[in-house]
Amino acid sequence: MTATGSSAVDEPFGDDQLKVAVDAFEAATSVTVLCHVQPDADTIGSGLALGLALERRGIAVQVSFAEPDRLPASMRDLPGTDLLVPADEVARAVDLIVTVDCGSTGRLGSLADRLDGADTVLVIDHHRSNTRFGTVNVIDVKAESTTAVLARIFDLWDTEIDRDIAHCLYAGLVTDTGSFRWVRPGTHVLAERLLATGIDGGAIARTLLDNHPFGWLPMLSTVLGSAQLVADAHGGDGLVYAVVRRADVEGLGSEEIESIIDIVRTATEAEVAAVFKETEASTRHEWAVSLRSKNAVDVSTVATGLGGGGHRFAAGYTASGPIEDLVASLCAALG
Ligand code: 5GP
Ligand code: MN
Repeated sequence: MTATGSSAVDEPFGDDQLKVAVDAFEAATSVTVLCHVQPDADTIGSGLALGLALERRGIAVQVSFAEPDRLPASMRDLPGTDLLVPADEVARAVDLIVTVDCGSTGRLGSLADRLDGADTVLVIDHHRSNTRFGTVNVIDVKAESTTAVLARIFDLWDTEIDRDIAHCLYAGLVTDTGSFRWVRPGTHVLAERLLATGIDGGAIARTLLDNHPFGWLPMLSTVLGSAQLVADAHGGDGLVYAVVRRADVEGLGSEEIESIIDIVRTATEAEVAAVFKETEASTRHEWAVSLRSKNAVDVSTVATGLGGGGHRFAAGYTASGPIEDLVASLCAALG
Protein backbone atom coordinates (compact mmCIF):
# COMPACT_ATOMS: atom_id res chain seq x y z
CA MET A 1 0.00 0.00 0.00
CA THR A 2 1.18 3.54 -0.71
CA ALA A 3 2.00 5.57 2.37
CA THR A 4 -0.25 8.58 2.88
CA GLY A 5 -0.57 11.47 5.28
CA SER A 6 3.07 12.39 5.75
CA SER A 7 4.10 16.04 5.60
CA ALA A 8 7.20 17.63 4.20
CA VAL A 9 9.20 19.41 6.87
CA ASP A 10 8.07 22.95 6.12
CA GLU A 11 4.51 22.39 4.97
CA PRO A 12 1.72 23.52 7.29
CA PHE A 13 0.03 20.52 8.88
CA GLY A 14 -3.68 20.55 8.20
CA ASP A 15 -6.82 18.72 9.27
CA ASP A 16 -6.85 16.71 6.04
CA GLN A 17 -3.55 15.14 7.10
CA LEU A 18 -4.94 14.34 10.56
CA LYS A 19 -8.17 12.95 9.14
CA VAL A 20 -6.43 9.77 7.91
CA ALA A 21 -5.90 8.84 11.57
CA VAL A 22 -9.60 9.29 12.36
CA ASP A 23 -10.50 7.16 9.32
CA ALA A 24 -8.15 4.41 10.54
CA PHE A 25 -9.71 4.43 14.05
CA GLU A 26 -13.24 4.31 12.65
CA ALA A 27 -12.44 1.33 10.43
CA ALA A 28 -10.87 -0.75 13.23
CA THR A 29 -12.43 -3.19 15.70
CA SER A 30 -9.14 -4.33 17.27
CA VAL A 31 -6.18 -2.04 17.90
CA THR A 32 -2.68 -2.33 19.36
CA VAL A 33 -0.95 0.87 20.45
CA LEU A 34 2.84 0.59 20.59
CA CYS A 35 5.11 2.95 22.53
CA HIS A 36 8.88 3.18 22.10
CA VAL A 37 11.53 1.28 24.06
CA GLN A 38 12.91 2.97 27.19
CA PRO A 39 9.62 4.88 27.22
CA ASP A 40 9.29 8.54 28.16
CA ALA A 41 6.18 10.41 29.25
CA ASP A 42 5.33 11.50 25.69
CA THR A 43 5.15 7.99 24.27
CA ILE A 44 3.33 6.58 27.33
CA GLY A 45 1.05 9.63 27.68
CA SER A 46 0.15 9.28 23.99
CA GLY A 47 -0.35 5.52 24.22
CA LEU A 48 -2.58 5.69 27.28
CA ALA A 49 -4.62 8.69 26.05
CA LEU A 50 -5.31 6.91 22.77
CA GLY A 51 -6.01 3.64 24.60
CA LEU A 52 -8.58 5.39 26.83
CA ALA A 53 -10.24 7.07 23.83
CA LEU A 54 -10.50 3.78 21.90
CA GLU A 55 -11.76 1.87 24.95
CA ARG A 56 -14.54 4.42 25.45
CA ARG A 57 -15.70 3.78 21.91
CA GLY A 58 -15.90 0.05 22.62
CA ILE A 59 -12.85 -0.81 20.50
CA ALA A 60 -10.66 -3.63 21.87
CA VAL A 61 -7.24 -2.14 22.61
CA GLN A 62 -3.89 -3.20 24.04
CA VAL A 63 -1.07 -0.74 24.83
CA SER A 64 2.51 -1.95 25.17
CA PHE A 65 6.25 -1.27 24.87
CA ALA A 66 9.06 -3.80 24.42
CA GLU A 67 11.49 -2.85 27.18
CA PRO A 68 12.20 -2.60 30.05
CA ASP A 69 9.61 -4.99 31.48
CA ARG A 70 8.18 -2.41 33.92
CA LEU A 71 6.90 1.10 33.43
CA PRO A 72 9.31 3.71 34.91
CA ALA A 73 8.10 4.57 38.43
CA SER A 74 7.33 8.23 37.61
CA MET A 75 4.68 7.19 35.06
CA ARG A 76 2.86 4.59 37.13
CA ASP A 77 0.08 6.87 38.31
CA LEU A 78 -0.93 8.02 34.82
CA PRO A 79 -4.59 7.17 34.05
CA GLY A 80 -5.13 4.12 31.84
CA THR A 81 -2.17 2.00 32.94
CA ASP A 82 -4.59 -0.95 33.25
CA LEU A 83 -4.55 -1.00 29.42
CA LEU A 84 -0.84 -1.87 29.41
CA VAL A 85 0.05 -5.47 28.59
CA PRO A 86 3.47 -7.16 28.78
CA ALA A 87 5.22 -7.33 25.38
CA ASP A 88 4.86 -11.11 25.08
CA GLU A 89 1.07 -10.80 25.45
CA VAL A 90 0.63 -8.38 22.54
CA ALA A 91 -1.72 -9.85 19.92
CA ARG A 92 -0.09 -11.21 16.76
CA ALA A 93 -2.95 -10.12 14.47
CA VAL A 94 -5.12 -6.98 14.72
CA ASP A 95 -6.91 -4.61 12.36
CA LEU A 96 -4.76 -1.66 13.30
CA ILE A 97 -1.42 -1.00 14.95
CA VAL A 98 -0.76 2.58 16.01
CA THR A 99 2.79 3.56 16.93
CA VAL A 100 3.14 6.70 19.03
CA ASP A 101 6.29 8.85 19.30
CA CYS A 102 8.39 6.22 17.42
CA GLY A 103 10.71 7.59 14.74
CA SER A 104 11.65 4.23 13.26
CA THR A 105 10.82 0.52 13.60
CA GLY A 106 13.99 0.08 15.66
CA ARG A 107 12.34 2.10 18.43
CA LEU A 108 9.73 -0.69 18.78
CA GLY A 109 12.39 -3.18 19.91
CA SER A 110 11.12 -6.77 19.93
CA LEU A 111 7.56 -5.61 19.13
CA ALA A 112 8.56 -4.56 15.60
CA ASP A 113 7.61 -8.09 14.52
CA ARG A 114 3.92 -7.30 15.21
CA LEU A 115 3.76 -4.84 12.30
CA ASP A 116 3.37 -7.67 9.77
CA GLY A 117 0.25 -8.94 11.56
CA ALA A 118 -1.77 -5.73 11.15
CA ASP A 119 -3.96 -4.74 8.20
CA THR A 120 -3.02 -1.09 8.76
CA VAL A 121 -0.03 0.50 10.53
CA LEU A 122 -0.68 4.10 11.58
CA VAL A 123 2.39 6.10 12.64
CA ILE A 124 1.62 9.13 14.84
CA ASP A 125 4.72 11.15 15.64
CA HIS A 126 6.58 14.47 15.64
CA HIS A 127 10.18 13.35 15.04
CA ARG A 128 11.95 15.11 12.19
CA SER A 129 13.91 11.89 11.52
CA ASN A 130 10.76 9.73 11.20
CA THR A 131 11.28 7.08 8.50
CA ARG A 132 7.52 6.97 7.65
CA PHE A 133 7.29 3.23 8.15
CA GLY A 134 3.49 3.10 8.40
CA THR A 135 0.91 2.41 5.74
CA VAL A 136 -0.57 5.67 7.07
CA ASN A 137 1.71 8.35 8.54
CA VAL A 138 0.63 11.34 10.61
CA ILE A 139 3.90 13.10 11.40
CA ASP A 140 3.76 16.76 12.40
CA VAL A 141 7.39 17.73 12.83
CA LYS A 142 6.41 21.13 14.20
CA ALA A 143 4.33 19.68 17.05
CA GLU A 144 5.69 20.12 20.58
CA SER A 145 4.91 16.52 21.49
CA THR A 146 3.14 13.49 20.10
CA THR A 147 0.42 14.18 22.68
CA ALA A 148 -0.14 17.59 21.01
CA VAL A 149 -0.72 15.80 17.67
CA LEU A 150 -3.19 13.47 19.41
CA ALA A 151 -5.11 16.40 20.92
CA ARG A 152 -5.80 17.67 17.39
CA ILE A 153 -6.79 14.18 16.22
CA PHE A 154 -9.20 13.81 19.16
CA ASP A 155 -10.88 17.12 18.25
CA LEU A 156 -11.34 16.02 14.67
CA TRP A 157 -12.67 12.65 15.88
CA ASP A 158 -15.14 14.39 18.21
CA THR A 159 -13.59 12.68 21.18
CA GLU A 160 -13.91 14.52 24.47
CA ILE A 161 -10.63 15.35 26.20
CA ASP A 162 -11.74 14.61 29.72
CA ARG A 163 -9.65 14.84 32.87
CA ASP A 164 -7.96 11.42 32.49
CA ILE A 165 -7.07 11.93 28.83
CA ALA A 166 -5.94 15.50 29.63
CA HIS A 167 -3.62 14.15 32.35
CA CYS A 168 -1.95 11.82 29.83
CA LEU A 169 -1.68 14.54 27.15
CA TYR A 170 -0.26 17.06 29.63
CA ALA A 171 2.39 14.52 30.71
CA GLY A 172 3.81 14.43 27.17
CA LEU A 173 3.44 18.19 26.67
CA VAL A 174 5.20 19.27 29.86
CA THR A 175 8.10 16.84 29.42
CA ASP A 176 8.74 17.21 25.66
CA THR A 177 8.67 21.05 25.94
CA GLY A 178 11.21 20.86 28.78
CA SER A 179 8.67 22.36 31.20
CA PHE A 180 7.51 24.88 28.58
CA ARG A 181 10.95 26.04 27.49
CA TRP A 182 10.57 24.93 23.85
CA VAL A 183 7.24 26.42 22.87
CA ARG A 184 5.45 28.02 19.94
CA PRO A 185 2.26 30.02 19.53
CA GLY A 186 -0.54 27.69 20.64
CA THR A 187 1.48 25.64 23.13
CA HIS A 188 0.06 27.48 26.12
CA VAL A 189 -3.44 27.45 24.64
CA LEU A 190 -3.30 23.65 24.62
CA ALA A 191 -1.84 23.59 28.14
CA GLU A 192 -4.61 25.92 29.37
CA ARG A 193 -7.27 23.73 27.81
CA LEU A 194 -5.88 20.60 29.46
CA LEU A 195 -5.53 22.36 32.85
CA ALA A 196 -9.14 23.55 32.61
CA THR A 197 -10.30 19.91 32.92
CA GLY A 198 -9.17 20.07 36.56
CA ILE A 199 -5.83 18.25 36.35
CA ASP A 200 -3.08 19.35 38.75
CA GLY A 201 -0.31 20.54 36.39
CA GLY A 202 2.11 21.21 39.22
CA ALA A 203 1.73 17.73 40.66
CA ILE A 204 2.04 16.09 37.23
CA ALA A 205 5.27 17.99 36.47
CA ARG A 206 6.71 17.28 39.91
CA THR A 207 5.94 13.56 39.68
CA LEU A 208 7.48 13.25 36.21
CA LEU A 209 10.43 15.65 36.48
CA ASP A 210 11.31 16.66 40.04
CA ASN A 211 11.22 13.45 41.97
CA HIS A 212 14.47 11.57 42.58
CA PRO A 213 15.75 9.30 45.34
CA PHE A 214 18.50 10.73 47.53
CA GLY A 215 21.10 8.57 45.72
CA TRP A 216 20.62 10.80 42.67
CA LEU A 217 22.63 13.57 44.36
CA PRO A 218 25.91 11.65 44.95
CA MET A 219 25.52 10.07 41.47
CA LEU A 220 25.35 13.56 39.92
CA SER A 221 28.43 14.56 41.86
CA THR A 222 30.42 11.67 40.36
CA VAL A 223 29.12 11.97 36.80
CA LEU A 224 29.20 15.77 36.54
CA GLY A 225 32.64 15.79 38.14
CA SER A 226 33.97 13.93 35.12
CA ALA A 227 32.35 16.21 32.49
CA GLN A 228 34.62 17.39 29.68
CA LEU A 229 34.56 20.44 27.43
CA VAL A 230 35.78 20.12 23.82
CA ALA A 231 35.99 23.82 23.00
CA ASP A 232 36.98 23.44 19.33
CA ALA A 233 34.15 21.07 18.35
CA HIS A 234 31.88 22.21 15.48
CA GLY A 235 34.19 25.00 14.42
CA GLY A 236 34.59 26.37 17.94
CA ASP A 237 30.92 26.19 19.01
CA GLY A 238 31.96 23.62 21.61
CA LEU A 239 30.85 20.20 22.87
CA VAL A 240 30.32 19.34 26.54
CA TYR A 241 29.95 15.70 27.51
CA ALA A 242 29.65 13.41 30.49
CA VAL A 243 30.03 9.64 30.80
CA VAL A 244 27.65 7.52 32.88
CA ARG A 245 28.98 4.06 33.72
CA ARG A 246 26.75 1.30 35.08
CA ALA A 247 28.57 1.43 38.41
CA ASP A 248 27.71 5.14 38.80
CA VAL A 249 23.96 4.51 38.61
CA GLU A 250 23.64 1.21 40.50
CA GLY A 251 20.18 0.99 42.03
CA LEU A 252 18.89 4.14 40.32
CA GLY A 253 16.04 4.28 37.77
CA SER A 254 15.88 5.53 34.19
CA GLU A 255 14.48 8.90 35.33
CA GLU A 256 17.68 9.56 37.29
CA ILE A 257 19.88 8.70 34.30
CA GLU A 258 17.79 10.63 31.74
CA SER A 259 17.87 13.78 33.88
CA ILE A 260 21.66 14.15 33.57
CA ILE A 261 21.63 15.65 30.06
CA ASP A 262 19.41 18.48 31.27
CA ILE A 263 22.17 19.65 33.59
CA VAL A 264 25.09 19.02 31.23
CA ARG A 265 23.45 20.96 28.39
CA THR A 266 23.38 24.18 30.42
CA ALA A 267 27.15 24.79 29.99
CA THR A 268 27.50 28.22 28.37
CA GLU A 269 30.70 27.32 26.52
CA ALA A 270 29.10 24.51 24.48
CA GLU A 271 26.53 24.59 21.71
CA VAL A 272 26.14 20.81 21.80
CA ALA A 273 25.88 18.49 24.82
CA ALA A 274 26.23 14.73 24.94
CA VAL A 275 25.75 12.11 27.64
CA PHE A 276 27.16 8.64 27.02
CA LYS A 277 25.15 6.10 29.01
CA GLU A 278 26.61 2.63 29.38
CA THR A 279 23.89 0.06 28.71
CA GLU A 280 25.82 -3.20 29.02
CA ALA A 281 28.65 -4.48 31.18
CA SER A 282 31.78 -2.45 30.51
CA THR A 283 33.55 -5.28 28.69
CA ARG A 284 30.97 -4.98 25.88
CA HIS A 285 31.25 -1.20 25.72
CA GLU A 286 27.69 -0.50 24.63
CA TRP A 287 26.30 2.99 24.98
CA ALA A 288 23.08 4.94 24.50
CA VAL A 289 23.96 8.52 23.62
CA SER A 290 21.79 11.59 24.26
CA LEU A 291 22.49 14.73 22.24
CA ARG A 292 21.16 18.24 22.78
CA SER A 293 21.81 21.46 20.90
CA LYS A 294 20.99 25.05 21.73
CA ASN A 295 20.53 26.55 18.29
CA ALA A 296 23.20 26.29 15.58
CA VAL A 297 23.40 22.50 15.20
CA ASP A 298 20.66 20.13 14.01
CA VAL A 299 21.43 17.12 16.22
CA SER A 300 18.71 15.08 14.50
CA THR A 301 20.91 15.00 11.38
CA VAL A 302 24.02 14.21 13.45
CA ALA A 303 22.25 11.36 15.30
CA THR A 304 20.72 9.97 12.10
CA GLY A 305 24.22 9.88 10.58
CA LEU A 306 25.36 7.82 13.57
CA GLY A 307 22.47 5.34 13.27
CA GLY A 308 19.89 7.02 15.53
CA GLY A 309 17.45 9.90 15.17
CA GLY A 310 15.40 12.50 16.99
CA HIS A 311 14.57 16.18 16.78
CA ARG A 312 16.53 19.27 15.79
CA PHE A 313 17.45 20.11 19.40
CA ALA A 314 17.22 16.64 21.05
CA ALA A 315 18.36 13.40 19.50
CA GLY A 316 20.09 10.14 20.30
CA TYR A 317 21.77 7.02 18.99
CA THR A 318 23.39 3.83 20.23
CA ALA A 319 26.99 2.80 19.63
CA SER A 320 29.62 0.39 20.89
CA GLY A 321 33.33 0.72 21.56
CA PRO A 322 35.68 2.52 23.93
CA ILE A 323 34.45 5.94 25.01
CA GLU A 324 37.41 7.75 23.40
CA ASP A 325 36.35 6.32 20.01
CA LEU A 326 32.75 7.43 20.52
CA VAL A 327 33.83 10.96 21.41
CA ALA A 328 36.08 11.04 18.33
CA SER A 329 33.24 9.84 16.05
CA LEU A 330 30.88 12.40 17.51
CA CYS A 331 33.38 15.23 17.03
CA ALA A 332 33.97 14.06 13.44
CA ALA A 333 30.19 13.99 12.80
CA LEU A 334 29.84 17.49 14.25
CA GLY A 335 32.63 18.73 11.95
P1 5GP B 1 16.90 11.05 24.72
O1 5GP B 1 18.23 11.68 24.71
O2 5GP B 1 15.94 11.80 25.58
O3 5GP B 1 16.95 9.58 24.98
O4 5GP B 1 16.34 11.17 23.24
C1 5GP B 1 16.19 12.40 22.59
C2 5GP B 1 15.43 12.21 21.32
O5 5GP B 1 16.18 11.40 20.42
C3 5GP B 1 14.11 11.50 21.53
O6 5GP B 1 13.16 12.16 20.76
C4 5GP B 1 14.31 10.10 21.03
O7 5GP B 1 13.18 9.63 20.41
C5 5GP B 1 15.47 10.22 20.06
N1 5GP B 1 16.37 9.08 20.22
C6 5GP B 1 17.12 8.78 21.29
N2 5GP B 1 17.83 7.67 21.10
C7 5GP B 1 17.54 7.23 19.85
C8 5GP B 1 17.94 6.10 19.08
O8 5GP B 1 18.75 5.26 19.47
N3 5GP B 1 17.39 5.99 17.83
C9 5GP B 1 16.49 6.91 17.36
N4 5GP B 1 15.99 6.73 16.13
N5 5GP B 1 16.10 7.98 18.06
C10 5GP B 1 16.60 8.14 19.30
MN1 MN C 1 7.99 12.99 21.85
